[in-house]
Amino acid sequence: MKKALFYNSEGENIRCFLCPHNCLIGEGNYGICNMRKNIEGELYTMNYGISSAVSLDPVEKKPMYHFYPGSKVLSVGSIGCNLKCKYCQNYTIAQGKFEEFEGYTEGLSPEGIAGEAVRLKENGNIGVAYTYNEPIIWYEFMYDISKVIKSRGMKNIMVSNGFINPEPLEKLLETIDAFSIDLKGFTDEFYKKITGSRLEPVKRTLETIAASDRHLEVEYLVIPGHNDDKKKFSEMLDWYEKSLGKDVPLHINRYFPMYKMTEPATPMKTLKELYEMAKNKLDYVYLGNTESDLGSDTYCPNCGSLIVKRSGYFSEDLGSKNGKCKKCGLKIRGEGL
Ligand code: SF4
Repeated sequence: MKKALFYNSEGENIRCFLCPHNCLIGEGNYGICNMRKNIEGELYTMNYGISSAVSLDPVEKKPMYHFYPGSKVLSVGSIGCNLKCKYCQNYTIAQGKFEEFEGYTEGLSPEGIAGEAVRLKENGNIGVAYTYNEPIIWYEFMYDISKVIKSRGMKNIMVSNGFINPEPLEKLLETIDAFSIDLKGFTDEFYKKITGSRLEPVKRTLETIAASDRHLEVEYLVIPGHNDDKKKFSEMLDWYEKSLGKDVPLHINRYFPMYKMTEPATPMKTLKELYEMAKNKLDYVYLGNTESDLGSDTYCPNCGSLIVKRSGYFSEDLGSKNGKCKKCGLKIRGEGL
């Protein structure tokens, strides 16, 4: 554990302002994420140096389609989360009390992880991805690793729910090169009922990243009966185009029953309908978690040339040179294309 960032004393309690829950934490207690604890009037991040998984993954698995396609990234995760999604895909490492987790590795250091990332360069590694559980509540360790990675000339990728306050986010923009952020729905009701959080802070995060010079891709998991309403989806696309930009890649993903949610998997018909709606508005739309090849390749939005061909996690850049379409010269959004 390590002393945390982003907190104040309020009488005998502590106010954590890392994420918009802004928990007021009494002596000996944890915040909602179950990872930040008030110990004798100081806030500690209990999962500092703790990892639940380390793996060299294709960058496409994050999923990240416009950031060094075909490369690999050392992916690291810890334990805990600040959201309570009923369909959590990683609940064994994300949901639960700090003392109840087991089977993780302790005592890791930023230099150790960065050293491994450098060693794996010869295997196609471009840097470190913070993923699997929610990296926001691993903030201090992630930030410390990301500084070392940046100093070694490698890349940092954050895969996140985006439920973070503006000040800590601004600090991350110094070191994180690319963000994959979930937009879990487009109503506050959905966010409150299904995830235990709120929509507006996530929209603010997405707008802040989109306005920065950092790379952004957005994930939208379609859950039947909860966030697949076409009118709302259309509203979301209007906001997306206006506030993020039509060339920010959108991944529309298929849901499967998991954790506390038992609704059946998203019908392919629904996914295809939402995909077509999104394609009419945005330049780069992808379908994920399906066996279909539909929505897996990247095409130039200007001349229609095939830019990146994908099959599973394998990808081949066929149509770009120096970040531009080889045929018509249009700049393709992203880095490493
Ligand atoms: S990071 Fe954890 S303790 Fe801090 S405000 Fe969010 S949920 Fe609460």
